[in-house]
Order: sequence, then structure tokens, then C-alpha cells
Amino acid sequence: MKDLSISARYVKGVGPSKLGLLNRLGIETVGDLLYCVPRRHEDRSRICRVSEVRPGNLETIKVKVLAFGDRTTKRGMNIFQLAVGDSTGVMHATWFNQPYMKDKFKVGHELVLHGKVEKHIYLQINNPEYEILEDTKDDSAHIGRIVPIYPLTEDITQRWFRNVMKFTVDNYVDAAQDMLPYDIKRRNDLMPLKQALRNAHFPVSEVVLKKAMRRLIFDEFLLLQAGIALKRATIKIDLTGYSHNLKGDLVERFKKLLPFEFTNSQKKVIKEIQEDMQSLKPMNRLLQGDVGSGKTIVALYALILAIQGGYQGALMVPTEILADQHYKNVTNLLKELNIKIALLSGDLKPKERDRRKHMIEVGEADLVIGTHALIQQGMRFKKLGLAVIDEQHKFGVAQRALLKSKSQNPDVLVMTATPIPRTLAMTVYGDLDISVIDELPPGRKEIKTLYFQEKNREKAYKIAGEQVALGRQAYVVYPVIEESQRSDLRGAVKMRDELSEFFPDLKVGLLHGRMKSKEKEKIMLDFKEKRIDILVSTIVIEVGVDIPNSSTMIVEHAERFGLSQLHQLRGRIGRGSHISYCILVSDPKNDEAKSRIKAMLKTQDGFKIAEEDLEIRGPGEFFGTRQHGLPELKIGNIVRDRGIMELARAEATELIKKDRFLRRPENRLIRENLKKKFSMEKLELAATG
Ligand code: ADP
Ligand code: MG
Repeated sequence: MKDLSISARYVKGVGPSKLGLLNRLGIETVGDLLYCVPRRHEDRSRICRVSEVRPGNLETIKVKVLAFGDRTTKRGMNIFQLAVGDSTGVMHATWFNQPYMKDKFKVGHELVLHGKVEKHIYLQINNPEYEILEDTKDDSAHIGRIVPIYPLTEDITQRWFRNVMKFTVDNYVDAAQDMLPYDIKRRNDLMPLKQALRNAHFPVSEVVLKKAMRRLIFDEFLLLQAGIALKRATIKIDLTGYSHNLKGDLVERFKKLLPFEFTNSQKKVIKEIQEDMQSLKPMNRLLQGDVGSGKTIVALYALILAIQGGYQGALMVPTEILADQHYKNVTNLLKELNIKIALLSGDLKPKERDRRKHMIEVGEADLVIGTHALIQQGMRFKKLGLAVIDEQHKFGVAQRALLKSKSQNPDVLVMTATPIPRTLAMTVYGDLDISVIDELPPGRKEIKTLYFQEKNREKAYKIAGEQVALGRQAYVVYPVIEESQRSDLRGAVKMRDELSEFFPDLKVGLLHGRMKSKEKEKIMLDFKEKRIDILVSTIVIEVGVDIPNSSTMIVEHAERFGLSQLHQLRGRIGRGSHISYCILVSDPKNDEAKSRIKAMLKTQDGFKIAEEDLEIRGPGEFFGTRQHGLPELKIGNIVRDRGIMELARAEATELIKKDRFLRRPENRLIRENLKKKFSMEKLELAATG
């Protein structure tokens, strides 16, 4: 039996230097080659003759180079043209502003060209994909079929790689081992593996290609989901945490302090959290809810529950401003309850920091609110029973793990205002249970989202001025602190001065990330207590800041911010009972920036915004790798292939339920692949041999 783990250099055509190039693509073995699936395919089974080519169509032609040359237009554009033809006629192939193309061709070359055809004086095919057919003896891999196009770097040609793949598929596909038990294949209508691999590279038809890809994607997703299911099983079955006592005086007194009733959504979520906390199994829950949906108070409820039973609670947030705000609000709200609260954030004096750390260590502090400082080395808790992480998209998995490690399997609640659709969340946050707050507290007035071009910026300022005249306050946000020679972006520092001149009677304040903690604290307090009317700021106010009287959010250079950031910024307003205005000022220069602004104007629903964002940026960018720590997907796409993901998830859950350690003979290959894919410590498969 051939072995897929042998080096790719055993493939015909791969010498030492080419092997180096393959290594750079992450390809070491024959197996890596086999699983290097094409980026797309090109249908060259229908090669057109020149006489059959129609303007407006995407066509593939096989032609000879007759002549070529380039010229420069009056406007300075370089046009390179080939005259090409076959026995039925002559046409042009044209490349714009790519003068180096002229070094690639020789008269007499045979070519396959693929691209959009237009009619000028002659028919011409514009910026076509091209392939020079050097080896006329055997073109069976390259024309007259659906042809694979691979994700390659400059130094590797499609043609060479395709020959390598053809050899690999012809000689090694039989060594591929199908890991799926028969039942799973039957239930999900999946093609056998060897057939799938063959057709993923060199498909016999579009229909078969689709089925082939579906099979390979399923395999990839199944391993992912099995890994997740295993991790969940480990947490749920093996770990012992704390069982919190739900009944008690403290929570009751806390409820009486609240100036409002919980929404139904909040009640439902609190119930889910309570059940987790009461159970001896550690809670691992994600709370999703749009900005302003009232997550913080739910978290506080849970923290009080922990404190009531004699444990400590911790709330970790991404910025000092937020830590400070939570500390003040919570201290104020809870003052009658005799709970000791410690704030631990950025630049405390060493002595003060040590004092607070000591309080936490000996258990004098019941509730700890802080930034990353909470997970720093040397931070110890006496009895941490619940850790809450707010705005978790600002932290990574590693940080979640660190906070958890401050105690023996404490309950963990993470919160996010970048909600994503449920199946997606179950994958990306696979080891977490999910709760969703899907309504806003009553009485919220609408937020009007407006868009102005740069030249109309002053209209935006006028709206802010009118709002202040009504007793409200406003934010104006800039992408940078200071202007620089390298860009023409307005910066917050200078714009504070300009806006002070624009509003001579108003108090204009300034806030940015380079200020000292104490300064930031003072500015936020001044804003809160209305000693500042208009706060000029950078993105530091992106998350969490809760000042209900502010009703205008102007974002200048809105094109410089991501969609989720814009949505978060908009979430700073619309928190009171007044109509609010979110005004985006921008001259977007590319389509992506335009589509972000369009999305903001179209919807206010955070779930929809997140979906748009995912669409625009793609899952890789959207989630970032540091956020989930899942193995990288090579073939499937969690957004595009959601349907397959759901099937794989269902099968994986079943699989792990029936055979948790995958000891049954029919699951042996899944187990082996799983071990390869996930690192041991992550999976905790190691303990089982
Ligand atoms: P999130 O963290 O989800 O963005 P917050 O927790 O900051 O939202 O809540 C936004 C505002 O709504 C806060 O001022 C909070 O006090 C208020 N709030 C929360 N729950 C309710 C409720 N059930 N009824 C009325 N107001 C609420
Ligand atoms: Mg919040």
C-alpha cells in the first residue's frame, strides 16, 4: 500500500528546488498535495473557435500567437495586445497597464485564453487568464475538460502544478483512507473519499465536482465538530466546579434596588445562568446581546449570586474607561448591600495596587472589577466563584483561560455585543453554551442614522448644536489622535480646537487613549455630570460607555472604521428616552467602505450588522485567529457552507455521545485524524491513551 505521508519529492516533476517552493505553500507530503484543493475551476470542456466567440460572453479559446505589441494612450495608459487566431479567424487579446506581459509570449505560442469578450474594431478578450501550451503531446490535464485553478504563488505556474497534481491523483489517490463509517455516508448522501478527491481536482462534470467538494468539506467540518463535542464533553462530565446557592437575602435586596423591571429576554437568560451556577459543573456560557440590551445588569445579578454564597466575583472589561464606569455605577447601585468592591486597572501607584491585590487575595474584596490587570501574574483570589468577561471580542481565548485559572474551575460568563447567528456561534464558540438577549429595554427612542459627505460636515455639527440646545450632549469621534503629514485625516486634538471655535458658547472636551488614567477618568466624569457638552474622542469610547443623556454621535472619516466598530459607536447613543442621531461623515473611496456605510444606514439590528460584516470581511478577518483558537479550515467556509456544518455538527455530537473516546474500530480513523488536527492539550484526548 502506498503511503500518503511520504515526501512530495517522490512525485514526478518535483525536484529539490521545486520542493522548496511547495514547502512554502505548506506542502510537505503527497497527502498535503492531495488535499490542496483548487481555488476554483475553469470549464475548458467547451473550447470555442474564434468564429464562434460572442461579445459579452465569458469564453475559452485555444489559439496561436500571430503578432504582438504595446502602445501608450494619450492619457498614459499602457495597452498590450496579442493578435491571436485559429483556423476560423483572428482576434485580439488585450491587457491594460501590464507592460511586462510582452515578455511572456512568442509568436507561434499555442495558448488557452479565458476571459470576457468585447467587440471593438476586432473582437477582443480583455485581461484574460492565459496558459501557454508548451507540451502539445499531453494536454489532457489542461484543456478539453473542467480544469483546476490552484491557489499558488508567483514562482509556480498553474500548468506545472496541474501536472504534478495529475500525477499525484493518478498514482496516490488509492492510498487515501476513508475515515467515515458507512452509516454517516449513507445518511448524509456523501460520495466515497477516493472519488471525491479525484473529482475535486479533475472533475468529470460540474455536478460531480459539487458533490466532491461537499464530501471533502463534510470531512473537515466533522473533525472540527468532533473536536468541539469532545471538549464540551470533557467540561461537562469530568470537571467539578462550584454549586452556587440560589436562595438568599442578598439577591432579593439587590432586585429591590433596581429602578426597572427585567425584560423577558433578560429573565430568560438569568434563568439559564442560574441553572448553570447551581449545578456542580462549571458554567461556560456566552451571553450575546446587541449594544444597549442590558447585559451588564444580568452579569451583576450573577455576580451577586456568587457573592451571596460566600464566593468572590470578578468582572473583566477591555478598557480603563469602562472599568472605571462600571466601578462607579456598581458602587453607587450597591451601596446599601455592604459588598466590598475593588477596582483594579491600569496605572495605580504600586503601593495602592499591592494593597488592593492583598484585599483580593485574602478575600476582603467580594467583587473585583478591572482590566487585563486582573489576569496578570501574581494576581490571586481567595475564592473566585464566577468570572465575567465583558465585550469578550476584545479579548482572546488565552485570556479567558487565564482568568479561569485564577481558581478551581470557576463559573465563567462571557458577554459580547457582536452577536452572530446561532449555528455559527455554536461552532466558533464551540465549547460555550449560548444565551441570547434579543430585545431592548422598553422606552428606547429611535436612532436616526444619517450620512454626510465631507463637504457637508458642518451640517452634522449643526445637528449636534441643536441637540445640545435641547439639553443633550454629543460625541464627535476621529480615527486618529493627531494629524500627520502622511495622511489627510483629521485628528481629535486639533479638531477639539476647531470645534471649540465653531461652538464658542459650548464646552468641548477631549478624550483619547494616550491620556493618563486619571485624566480620562476626570473627563468622563465631567461629561457624565454635564460639565462638557461635546466630547471629541477617538475610538476609546467604542465599547460599553453608558451616558444616556448623549444623543448625537458624529463619526468623522467613517470609512476608516470597521462595521462592528461603527455599530458599537452608534450604541453609545439612543440609551435615553430622546431621539438620537448617528451621523457618518465620509467620502468613501472603495466599495468595501461604501458597503459598510450602506449597511449602517440600512439596519440597526446588531445580528444583521454582524452578518453583513462577516460577508464583507470574510470569516478569517471577522473572527481573527486569536478569538477562537480553532484549527484553520482549508476547504470549507463556515459562512458559505453553513448547511454542511449543521449536518457535520449533528453527526459529531451523536458520534461522541455514543463513543466518547472513539474506541470503536469503525471510528479509529476519525480518532487518528482528530489527534493530528488538534493539539493534545486542547483536546484532552491524551488522558485516554
Ligand atoms: P449592554 O452592556 O448590553 O450594551 P447596558 O448593560 O449598558 O447594555 O444597558 C444599557 C442601559 O439600559 C443601561 O443604562 C441600563 O441601566 C439600562 N437597562 C438595562 N436593563 C434594563 C431594563 N430591563 N429596563 C430598563 N433599562 C434597562
Ligand atoms: Mg455592556
